[in-house]
Amino acid sequence: MPTMGRVAAFYGAGRPMEIKEYPVPDPEPGAVILKMTVANVCGSDLHQWRGEFDIAQFGRPYPQILGHEMTGTVFLLGEDVSRDTAGQPLNEGDRVIFRYFYPCGSCRACLKRVTRACPYARSYLANSCDVPPHFYGAFGDYYYVRPGAAIFRVPEGVEDTTVAGINCGLSQMVGGLQLAQVGMGESVVIQGAGGLGVYATAVAKERGAGKVIIIDGIRERLELARAFGADETVDLREIPDSAQRIERVRELTGGWGADVVAEVVGHPRVVNEGLQMLGRTGRYLEIGNVTPNLTFELDPSLLVQRNITVYGMVYYEAEHLQQALDLLDRTRDKYPWHRVVSQTFPLERINDAFTAADRGEVTRAAIVP
Ligand SMILES: [Zn+2]
Ligand SMILES: [Zn+2]
Repeated sequence: MPTMGRVAAFYGAGRPMEIKEYPVPDPEPGAVILKMTVANVCGSDLHQWRGEFDIAQFGRPYPQILGHEMTGTVFLLGEDVSRDTAGQPLNEGDRVIFRYFYPCGSCRACLKRVTRACPYARSYLANSCDVPPHFYGAFGDYYYVRPGAAIFRVPEGVEDTTVAGINCGLSQMVGGLQLAQVGMGESVVIQGAGGLGVYATAVAKERGAGKVIIIDGIRERLELARAFGADETVDLREIPDSAQRIERVRELTGGWGADVVAEVVGHPRVVNEGLQMLGRTGRYLEIGNVTPNLTFELDPSLLVQRNITVYGMVYYEAEHLQQALDLLDRTRDKYPWHRVVSQTFPLERINDAFTAADRGEVTRAAIVP
């Protein structure tokens, strides 16, 4: 009898996910099979769950397994796998983090070493989870890491619930603030204090930012951002007017405006406001708006007159994963990383986890299968 494992099968927005079982396959050479320990519900999972974009439109047949922010332990090592990407020995039972996408290495983006932009990196989603090797999403008992993945052993003393945030949220912000070149003494505004926003706060401080200002409408989130190093908070309920918030940021930055604004709300209406918070030579980092066909109005002379640069970013490079792991390890007593995940659910309660995350009742909901 092969080992069986469960997954939460997703059949499209508005339908509850269903638990299905598949046999755990043997790993091909170079592959690694993990036993999942923690999988977080990320904002982009929620976009798909709510139906804000229909993944079938992107050639992904149902059922699919959602989830990509996760960690696990090595269950089976394929032939030829004896070390992680950093060259450390890898054995069954080791805790690991890994990149859940697989750049091809030979397209125009990969040849420019911007592997996050590889159009083939998630081609495994072209099959439903009924097709072997089945386990390609975070919400299941196992995960099949394909050959060639970036995979790193997790040091002792960093908790699984903390580690799970690395391979989406934290690496995204490590890579994003590097792309936006946040430098020493610069002022940084972060729009949104969810998981990405609090990660961004710590990363900006670690990069030497002078002042980090974070904007949100939920007091608990702003308090958490303070614990992650935010110098100033702007509460949307206290300053409901956009023009006044822009003015507030100007005051807090000595009349100049911010050097960098990072958007991690995921709604287009905040973009214009964020751009207006920038001072001359400001850089705008767009990460949150992953949903297509949503628009906003913009006066483009703002970009010209202030010499503004806009960076868009999805996914990250393998080095960012390693840097994020190092950051977490090095600052584990400095920031309350464990507070980002505020509630855990067993796999069979995945629909409750999504409902709680959707209502904003939790910073990050996590599945512990
Ligand atoms: Zn994510
Ligand atoms: Zn490529």
